[in-house]
Amino acid sequence: MARRLGEMLLAEGLITEAQLKQALTAQKKHGGKLGSHLVAMNYLTEDQLLTGISRQLGIARIDLGSVSIDQSTLNLISSDMAYKYKVIPIGREGKKGLTVAMSDPTDMIAIDDIRFRTGFDIHTLVASETAIDQALMQYYPTSDALGKLPVTTGGNVEVIVQDPLSDTSAGGHAPDDPPAATLLNSVILDAILKGASAIHIEPFERKIRIRFRIDGVLHEEASPPIRMRTEIQSRLENLFKFDRAARRQPKISQISATINDHPVRMMAQIYPTLYGDKILIKIWNQNDLSLDISQLGLQRKAFSDLSKAISGHYGLIVFAGPHKTEKMRTYYSILNTANTEHQNVVSIEDPIEYYMEGVNQVEVNIKGALSLPTALQFLQDEDLDVIGISDLSDTAILGIATHLATRCRVYGLVGSHGTEDALTQLMNREIDIRLLAETLKCVVTQASVRKICEHCKTPTEIEEDRFVRFGIDPQKLAGRTYYVGKGCDRCYHTGYRWRQPVFEVMPVSPRIADMMIQGAPSHEIRMEAIKEGMRPIKEDALLKFARGITTLDEIAKAFS
Ligand SMILES: [Zn+2]
Repeated sequence: MARRLGEMLLAEGLITEAQLKQALTAQKKHGGKLGSHLVAMNYLTEDQLLTGISRQLGIARIDLGSVSIDQSTLNLISSDMAYKYKVIPIGREGKKGLTVAMSDPTDMIAIDDIRFRTGFDIHTLVASETAIDQALMQYYPTSDALGKLPVTTGGNVEVIVQDPLSDTSAGGHAPDDPPAATLLNSVILDAILKGASAIHIEPFERKIRIRFRIDGVLHEEASPPIRMRTEIQSRLENLFKFDRAARRQPKISQISATINDHPVRMMAQIYPTLYGDKILIKIWNQNDLSLDISQLGLQRKAFSDLSKAISGHYGLIVFAGPHKTEKMRTYYSILNTANTEHQNVVSIEDPIEYYMEGVNQVEVNIKGALSLPTALQFLQDEDLDVIGISDLSDTAILGIATHLATRCRVYGLVGSHGTEDALTQLMNREIDIRLLAETLKCVVTQASVRKICEHCKTPTEIEEDRFVRFGIDPQKLAGRTYYVGKGCDRCYHTGYRWRQPVFEVMPVSPRIADMMIQGAPSHEIRMEAIKEGMRPIKEDALLKFARGITTLDEIAKAFS
C-alpha cells in the first residue's frame, strides 16, 4: 500500500508538519486535493509537488500537453469518472493494463474504483491538477459534464421555449437550437475551468467577440459563427430566465448552477448595443472561496490584530479596497469564524456572491424586492451576534451600523483605494464621529497582485538599482532566487496566473480613536498606525515578492 501524499512530502522535506496540518484542516473543510491546498497556501510550487510525488513513489511525470490521446482510449473512461477522479486515460498497456494520468496517484479509492469499473489494471503517471483540468476540457468537452448545466439551472427551459412571446426573431430556428445550448454551455464551462470572473459576449457587425476576464485582464476566446447570434441570446435568456417580452431593454438576472459537481453563482446582464445585445456573465465559483482565515496570506501581526478585533462581542470592522469580489472573499472567511450553532449571523448582500450554510443571507436590491435600508430597519431589533453589510457607502446605513456596533459585531465593506481613503470616507459623513471612533475596531484594506505562473516560472536576475528604487536594502535579500514567468499557453503568455491578496490591517488604538474624534487628517492617522506597528500594504506585497510569489513589475503596477 502506497504511503499517503502528506507523509511523503514531509519525508521529502518539502513541507513542515504544521503546514501539512493546516492543509489537512482546509481539505477536511472544503474538500479537494491535499496537494492543491498546499500549492494554494504557497507552501510549495506545483512543480515541487510533482517532483516530490514522482520521486517518492517512483512514478513518472507526464506532460499532458505533449501527448495526443486517441478516441478509443478516451472511451475507456467515462466523462463522469474522468471529472470525478480528475483522471485522464493515456493508453493501453498489454492486454489487461491501462495507463492513466492523475494529480494524486496515492488516491487508492479512485484507483480501485477505476479498476473496478473498467476491468483494467491501472498504472499511474503523475500530472499537475491544472494540467489535468486542461486535459479534461480538451478531451471531454461535451457529453455528460456539460449536460449537467441546463438540467440544474433551467428546469423550466421547455416551458419558456413554448412561450408565445418568444416571437420569430430567431429567424426560423428553434430558439433552443442544441448547437447554441452546447456552445453557451461549453463557453461557461471553459470560463470556469480557466478561473474567469466574467464572460463578455459582444455582437459586432461581422463577428461575435467572446472575452474572459482572467486575473483581472480580458482575453479574447474563439468566436462563434455570427449566424448564431440570436440563438445564443435566446439560450441565455432561457438559462437565466429573463423576461422575454421586454425586448431591447437592459436586464439582469442571477442563477445558481452545479457545474462538475461544484456550486457556482452566475449573474447575467444584457443591454442593447448597435448590433444586438451585449451580454455580461459574472461568475462566482464557490470553489474559489476559502473560508479559512489562516489561508488569506496575512502576516503574523496583521493576523493577530484582525483575530483580536473579531473576538470581541461588539464593534465595527471595515473591509476596504478597490475590488468588491476580493473583499467579499475576505468578508466571507471572517463571517465564517462566527458561523457556529451558538451565534446568530446575518449577512445583507447585494448581490449574494457565494452561499454560506448557517448564515442568514439576505439579498437586497435585486429586482427591487428589498432595499438595504429597509432590511436594516427590520434587523435593528433582531437578536444578533454578527451582522455583515456588503455596502457602507450610504451615510444613513453607516449611521445605523455604528449604532448596531455598540451591541454586536458589524462587518461592512467600503470601496476605496487604501486605508487613508477609507478613513476619509468614514469620517467625512454626517454621523456621530465619537460613536464611530468608539465602535470602529479595525480597518482591513486589501488589494491584489498577480502571481507568477507556475508553469513557466524561471529564475531571473534583478539589478540592485531596482531594489533601491523600491526602498529595499539589497543586502537584506542577498542569496535569494527571484522568479519571472516566461509566458506559456497556460497563462495566455502573460507570465502570470491567479491572484494573491495583499493586506494592510489597521487596529484602532485608543490614540487613533482620539485622533478620529479630534478630526485629524486620515494620512496622519495612518502614519500613527504605522508607528504603532502596522505593516503598509506595499511592504506586504514586497514580502510576497521576496517569497517568489509575484514580481516587482506587478507591485509597481498595483501601487503606482
Ligand atoms: Zn505560464
